Amino acid sequence: MTTHAQELERYHAQNKKSRAMYERAEKILPLGVSSNFRTYEPYPIYIQRAEGSKMWDVDGREYTDFSMCFGALMVGHSNPTMVKAVAQAAGEGTLYGMPHDREVRAAELIGERFRLEQVRFTNSGSESTMHALRMARSFTGRDKVLKFEGAYHGGHDTALVSVKPPKAKLGSAKHPKSLPVGHGIPEGTVKNTLVAQWNDIQSVRDQLQRNDNEVAALILEPVMMNVGVLPPRDGFIQELRALCDEFGVLLIFDEVKTGAKLAWGGAQEWFKVKPDIVCLAKAIGGGLPLGAFGASRALMNEIGQFRSFHAGTYASNPLATTACIAALADVLTPEVFTRATALGNALAEGHNHIIQKYGLNACAVNVGVNGTVFWRKTPPTNYREWLDQDFDAFWRYWHMNLNRGVIPQAQCYDEQWTVSALHTDKDVYRMLEVFDEIAREMR
Ligand code: PMP
Repeated sequence: MTTHAQELERYHAQNKKSRAMYERAEKILPLGVSSNFRTYEPYPIYIQRAEGSKMWDVDGREYTDFSMCFGALMVGHSNPTMVKAVAQAAGEGTLYGMPHDREVRAAELIGERFRLEQVRFTNSGSESTMHALRMARSFTGRDKVLKFEGAYHGGHDTALVSVKPPKAKLGSAKHPKSLPVGHGIPEGTVKNTLVAQWNDIQSVRDQLQRNDNEVAALILEPVMMNVGVLPPRDGFIQELRALCDEFGVLLIFDEVKTGAKLAWGGAQEWFKVKPDIVCLAKAIGGGLPLGAFGASRALMNEIGQFRSFHAGTYASNPLATTACIAALADVLTPEVFTRATALGNALAEGHNHIIQKYGLNACAVNVGVNGTVFWRKTPPTNYREWLDQDFDAFWRYWHMNLNRGVIPQAQCYDEQWTVSALHTDKDVYRMLEVFDEIAREMR
């Protein structure tokens, strides 16, 4: 049996160039990375290139990648269709600062797919949720917004409340406290972001009743995917729709992760519920930085009538909108979702079989192409249950996977695997083969 300490020794031995790169990076980049979500102990592997379902690091090691950049690469790494489209676009100018034909086509494709009368482009998920929330406040004339405990909606102040609040400060389960993520978020902003409990409709009703006529919008990920993969219980999304209607609150689906990934038409297709506003990013950009938000014409009129502000130098840039067109029109077809979903389900079944074989205190869940292993006996149903896990077991599993050439999901334990358009059953077999070895060691 190898201990975690021995696995870390192996990690150091195999990743000498990554370590040197980290030491160099750490001098110029805080934590040696450009996004906090990319750091982990003892130092991350530094990537050199990627293709298909594989990535190679600076030490020349090959990885079967199930992170796919936090799900943004639903098209797969360097998908030939994408490479061709982007390469051609690169020679036709990368920024115009003027409207152009590709943004119109990309917007039409998004509108059809996500049932939106109008859309505006952004560069990231954070920007999409920021603009959507401002538009909702503008439309309703209300300042407060409601979110779920444990949910991540991007890096702007309104969203940075109760993302991963510490256990000791949570408050009651029905009425979770609004807790800022770190320092630098004004108190007034925190007060305006109310928090409810996932899968508990009474907790949502209570918040709306207590703040009647003050809440502009309820924002949610229809499947919470910043605490592993946490689906709603049956009927929950439908009940939220009805509650929002009752209280005159706009329902915002943050489909940054679920859009063009949970299913061809995202969570709307999966749950058959129509939100008022949809926020998109990640998969729609086909690997380039692109976000969007959209709604009915009546709502988007907040922007059209210059009441709610939206602009951006890079918004709808020709390279990203070209990638969007190729991704949505040519790569992410309904057949791709059928195939990738079957592989995702096979991954969860395979993991659960191995978990049982070795009697691990764990369970695997998959929804669409998104799955994870929870380090507890049963799948959690909300953030508080999710907190109740053996996170040390996760880290051992993480390093053991990396040592064996598998990136099992996005880092870290709050993320999930993505089965992209370019994954095959060989990749599934490889991940399960490695997991069998890991589980045998961990039993
Ligand atoms: N919303 C959700 C649901 C997300 O998962 C993320 C990013 N993981 C964001 C918003 C923010 O997106 P970005 O990192 O592109 O700003």
